[in-house]
Amino acid sequence: MKILLVEDEEAIRGFVRINLKRGGMEMLEAGSGEEALELVLSQGAVDIALLDVMLPGMSGFDVCASLREAYPAMGIIMLTAKAQEEDKIRGLELGADDYIHKPFSPGELMARIHSLSRRLRLAAPAAGSPAPSAGAAAASLRPAGQAAVDPVPGGAQEASSLSRGQAAASFEPEAADMLAAGPFRLSERLHKLWKEGREIVLTPTEWTLVKLLMERCGQSVSRDEILSEVWGRYYVGDLKVVDVNIRRIRQKIESNPSEPAIIETVWGYGYRWKRGEA
Ligand code: CA
Repeated sequence: MKILLVEDEEAIRGFVRINLKRGGMEMLEAGSGEEALELVLSQGAVDIALLDVMLPGMSGFDVCASLREAYPAMGIIMLTAKAQEEDKIRGLELGADDYIHKPFSPGELMARIHSLSRRLRLAAPAAGSPAPSAGAAAASLRPAGQAAVDPVPGGAQEASSLSRGQAAASFEPEAADMLAAGPFRLSERLHKLWKEGREIVLTPTEWTLVKLLMERCGQSVSRDEILSEVWGRYYVGDLKVVDVNIRRIRQKIESNPSEPAIIETVWGYGYRWKRGEA
């Protein structure tokens, strides 16, 4: 797994470096956002970017937005100051998958990275692997062999999705691994979502959340359950990460995101993918 750390404080860089190396991870480092984007341009996509918010020059938010636009499948974790509650929400709104409050422990850092890497593994199945059955795909949600499938740092894949732009990708409903709900098709093998045959580009976290709701189509799923299913069982974060991701997903899939017809809010409880709606 390849990790990019963007942080201007040498002490924190050293701390993260030691822990990632100990965990057997490859690491790129940048002291500013500008340096980080150049590094990614020259060295290619990384699996996960760890982004400090307060940087000299462009902010961690700007880096997040740029990386997210260029690499929809990249994992992004923001490193935020505990006092800055709104920073956490802002990062998530810009497409970050998660955040860690500073100061953080090695255990917390590694737990967040491993939790996110599970979602990335889902988003990057081994090339040429046969389409799994629904059961097998569900089983692949569990990190059976942590090191079994290295996520493909999908440079080529992402480049093609970028060049495709807004053009509708043709959709062949041939695979047996499709989840279907109304005009939506979700491929567990390709880790993609289509609406009326048009691909909806989702982050690894958004895709995992959509899959969970589509599997429970018509049922209410609590925010607590979403949090533990998507972010991990021992996640100590805030339920707001669920709400922000739901909002982002609605912006991508709903005809009118402010009056959602596909993902319903179940007040005081959670969310529900409405059965059979267009
Ligand atoms: Ca800083």
